[in-house]
Amino acid sequence: MIHKKLKALPKKLRDDLKNQPRMFGTCIFYDLHKDQCGIHSVRPEVCRAFGYHKDLVCFRKPELATKETLTFKETHIGYLSIDFTWKHF
Ligand code: SF4
Repeated sequence: MIHKKLKALPKKLRDDLKNQPRMFGTCIFYDLHKDQCGIHSVRPEVCRAFGYHKDLVCFRKPELATKETLTFKETHIGYLSIDFTWKHF
């Protein structure tokens, strides 16, 4: 899904997202210029759950973290920025 999303992006947008200088450990899809996820509609399960579970509290809106511990439906296959980089897309 992420691969399809990136392929569908206009080249200029994709290149802009790809070439942003990020600190080590920052998600490769985090759009520094817009302060938002660059692949929002296809972001991974943990990203969709972030901020809404007691073990995934967001400092910007901690009051939203009311759900119990997240149980993953998707299988963990690696970490963005570490196991998956732009060369995989
Ligand atoms: S961590 Fe998740 S929500 Fe944040 S930029 Fe990366 S894919 Fe998007």
